Amino acid sequence: AVRVGVLAVQGDVREHIRVIESLGGKASPVRRPSELDAVEGLIIPGGESTTMDKLTRAFDLAEPLRERIRDGFPVYGSCAGMIMLADTIADPSVDLQGNPQQTLGGLDIVVRRNAFGRQRESFETDLAFAELPGGGPDVHAVFIRAPWVEKVGESVKVLAQVDAPDTPPAEHGVGRSTAGPVARIVAVRSGNLLATSFHPEVTGEHRIHELFLTMIAKRRAEHVGAL
Ligand code: GLN
Repeated sequence: AVRVGVLAVQGDVREHIRVIESLGGKASPVRRPSELDAVEGLIIPGGESTTMDKLTRAFDLAEPLRERIRDGFPVYGSCAGMIMLADTIADPSVDLQGNPQQTLGGLDIVVRRNAFGRQRESFETDLAFAELPGGGPDVHAVFIRAPWVEKVGESVKVLAQVDAPDTPPAEHGVGRSTAGPVARIVAVRSGNLLATSFHPEVTGEHRIHELFLTMIAKRRAEHVGAL
């Protein structure tokens, strides 16, 4: 079976473990570098990206993860996990010492946190999603204080978009433009990195995890071929 780790410093770890196991994979929580050595790919769950950033560094996982990502290690980030994979955060939180939150990076995107604002802070919708194994109906997507992707680099493939207000919320939701909705990017892939703004693990949608497993299997095949 494919061995998948779920970063377990904070966030909705169990749901991802269940989905991977229901697909026949072997899933385990990752809290220390040695646990990272035992897996072939990693899921970074939803949660709170500022906390996740701090804990990932405190647990000495940030540097080994950055190294692996540079090396082509497959990682799937959902919601806060997408933020962790982004090269740039449009609106990072800043701690009391004035240090902005950090990311692992690797995905050439600019994300905006909590981008859908108050009115649509949490919402559900059905989305067309490119690259789904076996195709099938739209993905039912749950967004919870989700980020959107504001910019993508050339290496990044857009997999899904959703209609949203034309501007991100201003401070405290005041000053949002009333112009019509525009399509916002909510799922991307770049090489072995996959990210969604939404949470497929909570709806019984397994195809995104299936896609991730195929990315890991492909990487495994390439590695064996290189030996
Ligand atoms: N708003 C959270 C953040 O900025 C992400 C929310 C989520 O993962 N559901 O990290």
